Amino acid sequence: METGHISVQAENIFPIIKKFLYSDQEIFLRELISNAIDATSKIKTLTSRGEVEGELGDLTIDIILDKEAKTLTISDRGLGMTEAEIKKYLNQVAFSSAETFLKKYKDDTNIIGHFGLGFYSAFMVADRVEVDTLSYKKTAKAVKWECTGNPEYKLSKGERKERGTDIILHITEDSIEFLEKNRIQSLLEKYARFLPFPIRFGKSTRTEYEGEGEDRKAIEIEEDNIVNNTDPLWKKKPSSLKDEDYLNFYRELYPMSQDPLFWIHLNIDFPFNLTGIMYFPKLNNSLEMQKNKIQLYSNQVYVTDDVKEIVPEFLLLLHGVIDSPDIPLNVSRSYLQSDSNVRKITSYITKKVADKLKQLYKKDSGKFEEKWDDVGTFVKYGMISDEKFYEKAKDFCLVKNTDNEFSLLDEYLEKVKANQTDKHERTVLIYANHDKEQHSYINSAKSFGYDVLMMNNIIDNHFMQQLEHKKDKITFVRVDSDTVDKLVQKDEIKESVLSEKEQEKLKKLFEDSLGELKGGTIELRALSPEDSPVTITRPEFMRRMKEMQMMQGVQLGEMPDSHNVIVNTNNELIAKKLLAMKSQDKKSLFSKYLYDLARLNQNMLKGEELSTFIKTSLEFVK
Ligand code: ADP
Repeated sequence: METGHISVQAENIFPIIKKFLYSDQEIFLRELISNAIDATSKIKTLTSRGEVEGELGDLTIDIILDKEAKTLTISDRGLGMTEAEIKKYLNQVAFSSAETFLKKYKDDTNIIGHFGLGFYSAFMVADRVEVDTLSYKKTAKAVKWECTGNPEYKLSKGERKERGTDIILHITEDSIEFLEKNRIQSLLEKYARFLPFPIRFGKSTRTEYEGEGEDRKAIEIEEDNIVNNTDPLWKKKPSSLKDEDYLNFYRELYPMSQDPLFWIHLNIDFPFNLTGIMYFPKLNNSLEMQKNKIQLYSNQVYVTDDVKEIVPEFLLLLHGVIDSPDIPLNVSRSYLQSDSNVRKITSYITKKVADKLKQLYKKDSGKFEEKWDDVGTFVKYGMISDEKFYEKAKDFCLVKNTDNEFSLLDEYLEKVKANQTDKHERTVLIYANHDKEQHSYINSAKSFGYDVLMMNNIIDNHFMQQLEHKKDKITFVRVDSDTVDKLVQKDEIKESVLSEKEQEKLKKLFEDSLGELKGGTIELRALSPEDSPVTITRPEFMRRMKEMQMMQGVQLGEMPDSHNVIVNTNNELIAKKLLAMKSQDKKSLFSKYLYDLARLNQNMLKGEELSTFIKTSLEFVK
């Protein structure tokens, strides 16, 4: 038996470990199991190189809970440690690295909680730790190391008969939660789910039925409770996998979700190592960020589901797994953001996603169009938030018109340019965001030979702004706006059937009968006789301001719902009927009626106004 003193100055490292890691104590299990995995893969490598004699044996790692003894043991069949190695690795290396780690990051609880610090994290939950280990080396003897949370340690003869290491944690009173079976089981599911060697946590029972009819009986089958899948899908060769495999894996990861639309298998080993699978979920026209859906692994060890720094923001809408040993985990967040590896990974993933979208569109544009409602949200979000993605998206960014016809954005711009350019040489892109409410405007715009886009995705307002900003000389206007009307005006050649004088009278009549229009205007226009006698348009600018406010959830006071009134001097009801009326009262009533009809078409008549309107209508019918 030998006692010694761990060679560091900081006598008080354990209180620090406890204090700063308190919030995320549970990671001790991840750290210790990772060590067991490392030791196991090392022995496997050594054996395959012929450097170890004898059988590898069963490499299953056991997690053993003994509630009575208040211990939790992590037992591996890895390469073990000799006495000299214990002294070197546990007393010197591990302790001093834990110490520097804490010195460096003790003010950054966030990162400490996140990344752990190896073997010594055991002292977060244990007041005594025993290590019983037998090295694979021929002459090695089992050794036992014991430490009670101060720099004193004890070395004695070990009990292990087989190669490998037992880490025995004597759980403190404060941490008895880690003596609960369910707690450990769920931690294992979180951190060990895809580790590369089997992890066994006791036994579990399964019920099976035998026999038929009356003879049918249930038998309880006891079997090893293996908590992990050692061969996760992302590690496999894409060519060996079927769609069903990807779908099943998705269901395993997100049991409550709808099936994804499609996926990308990431696989790269230069200039950094990264594997993974990114799934495109169904978004259902919602940007309600289902954050924390991407899981980050480092060599199959779960690290975090908070991948903000590694994945561009718009890609956070995706689900799936990224596994990279090259993402530095033991550094602070600000460093992570400026790390060149991380930046490379980010742009790699962005590129892969763009390539996949392009490929899908090329391969089967019809199928791609079917998924556009979901994919479009994602693509538009990407184009708004990521310059590189914006550039790439020209190959697969679609727009849809009110006849459900899809085009690539750039092709569309070319197509409508000739017919929809205004006097400032801007291409006017007309859109609707509600096909029912804007029905008559859509029809009217189409009758002028214009194309109307459907822009009813929640992200479309932002998206249109972005395009106006990026593209040269384009402007989006809603189909019911005054700008569309001006475009129409340019194409107009008709003359009014009314004389100047009659027109003056007409205008005055409408001004008097409609009263104040809250910022809107009344305008006479010589439209086609078939066009409505009175139309209402809305100032585009005002509407946009309102929509932006709504998106941002702010209300800068009540903005007037202003609208313009256009009176068609060539419509018979105006030119003949209205002007021919004898009494001023009747004229006033009729002009107001035509105006109300236009408002009705815009869903602007509500409540009392609507009742009055109906009453008046009935009078007219009589
Ligand atoms: P790290 O794993 O980051 O190197 P740790 O503090 O977790 O740091 O462990 C220190 C060292 O102790 C390891 O590098 C390894 O050499 C040794 N070690 C820890 N656990 C085991 C184990 N289960 N089997 C063999 N060696 C181990």
